[in-house]
Amino acid sequence: MRTPVPDYLQEVLDDCGASTDGAVADYIPELAAADPDRLAVAVASLEGPVHSAGDADVRFTIQSISKPFAYALALRDRGLDRVLESVGVEPSGDAFNEISLEPDTGRPRNPMINVGAIVTHSLVGDPGLTPDERDAATLEGLSAFAARPLEVDEAVFASEMETAHRNLALGHLVRGNGIVQEDPVRLVEGYTRQCSLAVDVRDLAVMAATLANGGVNPVSGEEVVAPWVARQTLSVMATCGMYDAAGDWFTSVGIPAKSGVAGGIIGALPGQVGLGVFSPRLDRFGNSARGVDICQRLSRDMGMHVMAAPATSATVIRRHEVVDGRTILELQGAIHYAAAEHVLRVMETIEPGSGPVLLDLSRVTDVNDVGGRMAEEGVRRLELDGHDVEVVTPEHLGRS
Ligand code: GLN
Repeated sequence: MRTPVPDYLQEVLDDCGASTDGAVADYIPELAAADPDRLAVAVASLEGPVHSAGDADVRFTIQSISKPFAYALALRDRGLDRVLESVGVEPSGDAFNEISLEPDTGRPRNPMINVGAIVTHSLVGDPGLTPDERDAATLEGLSAFAARPLEVDEAVFASEMETAHRNLALGHLVRGNGIVQEDPVRLVEGYTRQCSLAVDVRDLAVMAATLANGGVNPVSGEEVVAPWVARQTLSVMATCGMYDAAGDWFTSVGIPAKSGVAGGIIGALPGQVGLGVFSPRLDRFGNSARGVDICQRLSRDMGMHVMAAPATSATVIRRHEVVDGRTILELQGAIHYAAAEHVLRVMETIEPGSGPVLLDLSRVTDVNDVGGRMAEEGVRRLELDGHDVEVVTPEHLGRS
């Protein structure tokens, strides 16, 4: 049997491909030369395999999609407090290249708009790095997210620097108000090199899947960033990733995402998949027009909206019966807060002193920290009630 997923992806491209809405970005001369008809999609699972369709081998520059990854590296290297000191987490509701600083603190509002990304780039690596060393650390970090060595497209880099007046102005602005202390021109060069890394949709899907997987790259197995860094980054993507279309995007697609002016979009659905899409024509917000259509379609077809309510926690009880005076409680699936609370309510109905209890966790797939602590407390209280409690724990859970 051949998996139907690539066929499905091709069908989505066929359905969404006809539109010629939008226009290729032309404020970077080299991007204006892009073939507007290119179209590709890739979906990376958290177990390694990546499915794709369309122009999946065509490379383009990552542009603003580099921003969440540089943010993740800055968080990893400098810690949350230091990064928050210099860059906020509030949506700006403005265009990506807006001059948008918080009036009271002077910080850029978030790391997804250019001014915030320029400051964020200055926070990648150890504080003492030279700009060249920081460029190398950025390249190495983004390559770890992609599970392959990425390279700068020097032609796009040179082209963007020739017309980078606005970004240079933003660099001077943050240097002028003391948010950064270094040469603003070299800083904007470093940021622009970061934006000029060449990727294809498969790279984007793997990079997104690494965030969706709590920071562990599903292809290389490397923990690129800690789980809290991945969570912080996805949260900022959810609120600020699509610029002033963020609200429309989040309600209709419901996946933390980031777009770039070369026509790429990533989506990262926590615990499920990473998406990469490419189509160069942009809508008025600077997001890939057909890319947005494709993501809406994938989200709808595959039930990927993060706000869609998951299955009810009552399914956690697989079996509850009394056999020869012994209460058998067999659980299944994932034990998080709501599931554990349901289990505790079932335990509450067991009469004190009514005989032994068997808690069978063999079919439990996953226990988070709070779920585990609640279940342990339930067992302790059953024992205080005079029950002899036996717990069957499968090896993969590793809890006693
Ligand atoms: N390098 C581009 C810029 O700074 C990135 C913008 C984008 O992709 N939205 O203008």
